Amino acid sequence: MRYDVLIIGGGPAGNYLAQLLGRKLDVAVVEKKRSFGGKACTGIIGAESFEKLDFPGEAVLNELRGAVFYSKIQSFQIERETPQAYVVDRKVFEAGLAKRAVKRGVDYFMGTSFLGFKNGRAKLQHLNETFEIEADFYVGADGVASTVAKGIGAKSEAEFLKGYEAEIVGEFNKDFTEVWINKEVNPEFFFWVTPVSGDVARVGTFGSLESFRRFLTDRGLKPTSIIEFKAGSVGLGWRQPWVRENVALLGDAALQVKPTTAGGIVFGALCAHHLARAILSGDLSEYERACAGIKKQIAFGLKVRRIFKGMSQEGIERVFEVLGSEEAREVIENHADFDDHLRTFKALAKKPRLLASLLRISPSLIRALV
Ligand SMILES: Cc1cc2nc3c(=O)[nH]c(=O)nc-3n(C[C@H](O)[C@H](O)[C@H](O)COP(=O)(O)OP(=O)(O)OC[C@H]3O[C@@H](n4cnc5c(N)ncnc54)[C@H](O)[C@@H]3O)c2cc1C
Repeated sequence: MRYDVLIIGGGPAGNYLAQLLGRKLDVAVVEKKRSFGGKACTGIIGAESFEKLDFPGEAVLNELRGAVFYSKIQSFQIERETPQAYVVDRKVFEAGLAKRAVKRGVDYFMGTSFLGFKNGRAKLQHLNETFEIEADFYVGADGVASTVAKGIGAKSEAEFLKGYEAEIVGEFNKDFTEVWINKEVNPEFFFWVTPVSGDVARVGTFGSLESFRRFLTDRGLKPTSIIEFKAGSVGLGWRQPWVRENVALLGDAALQVKPTTAGGIVFGALCAHHLARAILSGDLSEYERACAGIKKQIAFGLKVRRIFKGMSQEGIERVFEVLGSEEAREVIENHADFDDHLRTFKALAKKPRLLASLLRISPSLIRALV
């Protein structure tokens, strides 16, 4: 079998690229699972990006107007009139993109694993049968533990974290996600409580299972009210190169993930646009250059992450004092972009009083901005 493009991995990134390239080229997707979904993922996507990227609306389960941030001893709320983010059903999201791709002529091979490259062809396995597909371009959209990345000898300089997420029954304010930062409970990451409805939320964190369990108790949620539990992992940092000869990496396979929140769906889709253009031009070397904006966001996120990791809970409390002030909340409410944290920080730094306060807490944060 022969195609113009073979995409390995039918997750959000692979399926998004497939529907961009359908109708223009002969494209196939191989996905090792027999159906879509199932991955640990809260499914939060910034509303602005969701519309801009034309993500499948049928996947939206809930609309969020804001967030409530909690430290050990303080809290503040950021809210807007209109939805700021959507919570999606990952299975419906992935299937929606795949349906579009199929309608545009893309072939799907479900339940089919990529095993490696052999003489320039992809070696694949479906049940007990192995077969090969040859393509002009191969795309590794096969997630954080990418076999394609290994196949092209890509190297990672990244922090790999284990994530835990549960769907839990309780009482929640359906309009707001909760973000809890208590380094004494979890020094690695924040906790989130993201409502899917008024009585079900997705609760999660990255780090240890023990801190996840402790948070549930502290937040007054019963472990026995969990109706679904998932674990997954994320890579925060760099895996390079993204391109070797006629093979490109996309999405989590290339670690195109926000180091501040571990969200990867939007970055993967943004990079898919650049990759689609590079493939259509026949020159993959354009791809990495075109992703410079995303690389800048990742580099900024990594600096913020380093600062977060080096901060004590006392430092976090001081940041809360600044960000919870009326002036800061106003800036965040007017300028915050769910997927462009650099823009949000720059808007805060334009206010002299806020800049001076942040500078007192963390000179390195300001250096990262400048
Ligand atoms: C706990 C947790 C919560 C998260 N919450 C969010 C969130 O709220 N918002 C957000 O934007 N991001 C979130 N993320 C990150 C998000 O899940 C990823 O960034 C996103 O799934 C990346 O999409 P992808 O298509 O690149 O990779 P994946 O979703 O991992 O898809 C890769 C696909 O490739 C397939 N595959 C793997 N190996 C092979 C092979 N050898 N052959 C064939 N197929 C293969 C897999 O089965 C899979 O379907 C979260 C992650 C975790 C762990």
